[in-house]
Amino acid sequence: MADSPYDVIVVGTGPGGYHAAVRAAQLGLKTAVVEKDETGGRCLNYACIPAKTLLRTAEIYEQAKNGEAIGIVADNISIDFTKLHERREEVRKGLTGGVAGLFKNHKIDQIEGEGMLTADGNVKVGDTTYEAGNVILATGSVALPIPGTEFGGRILDTWGAWSLPELPKSIAVVGAGASGSEIASAYARFGTEVILLEMLGQILPAEDKDMARVVERAFKKEGIEVVTGARVENVEAGSESVKFTYGDETKEVDYLVIAGGRGADVAALGLDEAGIKLNDDGKIDVDEAQKTAADGVYAIGDLTPGPALAHKAQEEGIVAAEAIAGQEVHPVDRDAIPGATFTHPQVGSVGLTEAEAKEAGHDVKAAKFKLGGVGAGSVYDDRDGMVKLVVDSKYGEILGAHIVGNRACDMIAELVAVRDLEGGYQELQRIIHPHPTISEAIPEAARAIDKWAIHA
Ligand SMILES: Cc1cc2nc3c(=O)[nH]c(=O)nc-3n(C[C@H](O)[C@H](O)[C@H](O)COP(=O)(O)OP(=O)(O)OC[C@H]3O[C@@H](n4cnc5c(N)ncnc54)[C@H](O)[C@@H]3O)c2cc1C
Repeated sequence: MADSPYDVIVVGTGPGGYHAAVRAAQLGLKTAVVEKDETGGRCLNYACIPAKTLLRTAEIYEQAKNGEAIGIVADNISIDFTKLHERREEVRKGLTGGVAGLFKNHKIDQIEGEGMLTADGNVKVGDTTYEAGNVILATGSVALPIPGTEFGGRILDTWGAWSLPELPKSIAVVGAGASGSEIASAYARFGTEVILLEMLGQILPAEDKDMARVVERAFKKEGIEVVTGARVENVEAGSESVKFTYGDETKEVDYLVIAGGRGADVAALGLDEAGIKLNDDGKIDVDEAQKTAADGVYAIGDLTPGPALAHKAQEEGIVAAEAIAGQEVHPVDRDAIPGATFTHPQVGSVGLTEAEAKEAGHDVKAAKFKLGGVGAGSVYDDRDGMVKLVVDSKYGEILGAHIVGNRACDMIAELVAVRDLEGGYQELQRIIHPHPTISEAIPEAARAIDKWAIHA
């Protein structure tokens, strides 16, 4: 039987779902969210936020251990793993509490349980059907094991890796995309023996190869064994360790972490009944307003094509809510979604790699500028890394921008903005940056295209 009618019901409260719900409520729509687990979704509870909290500790630990060169002398520095996880939990709780507060402030009803679409476009939770003018599906994605394995015991998904109760002696990470590389980067700095295995030819396969090369060099310096072109097979998990093979090699480690891939979490949604089919990649196709093939049903975030990133989910949530409220649609430009990898060093990127730009037929000009070239690189001991710009030689359009270095994930935001506002590299050459900051490397990279970088 139908219960209190809502203009919008959002299923899932991850970054996509809660942005959608708040925007819908701001626009005067009667809104409810349905969540089967923790408020804030996987990003806040099990993925982005816990990962970055631990990575922050790894960063400080590493700096403290190597502080002598900058005048910090400290003895007996060690990791308190219990404290580390307490802080992770505090951060998580603070942020998820914040999301619950947003729901309350915006008078968004929270319904606990598993939401399922009904044939007529309402949402069923347990025995109750909630009437919905529109539904936004925001149920995210789940980790997938590699063939021949299942998660459990010594075989971990990314959350298993980030929530290990004690520091392992050795781990193997399968998949060197952002998530796998972040796990390798943190644990190596904590002192764990790490082997990182990637099936493709480079780590961070989505990134420009110059960026991946800098990260790989840093990883090797930190003691990570990096193996590319490696297919992990014959996984045998025991009670104390895991054995596996890659090529002719056999390895035994404390834990095997699989960070290889994720699949849309649609199992409980009843998509068939609602007339929604998955595409060949297992995702839900949507139009520019995030609308699915079913009337009044929208989908956002990891459920839809494009990179599986929290900021993509957030923006898609806003677009869907505004479309439902009858506002002008501002479609998400999937080419303008920045990548952010919080390894040491970080990688931030937007648009095409140099190879992709050439493949797409552009007449490409590219230039790199090392972070060590500006004064701030030395001041902050941030010399490792570079800014790389890939531009079209005809008008100077920025096709791709790539930064590797300690502050890359913050710095990339400027290049996203310039590119979105259709600024060319010529404008970037003239934008005044504060001194001394690493960001001064950005106009220098733009100048390097015309061979007049001041610090070259
Ligand atoms: C280890 C790791 C680190 C990451 N780090 C970053 C990062 O630093 N930056 C970044 O941008 N991205 C990062 N990501 C990706 C990011 O977590 C996802 O892109 C993001 O969480 C997707 O948001 P979402 O709103 O689509 O769904 P989710 O965050 O997955 O939330 C979906 C919610 O829906 C709920 N749900 C599912 N089915 C139902 C149902 N039937 N009924 C009710 N509720 C349901 C789930 O319980 C969950 O709470 C990371 C991912 C991983 C795995």
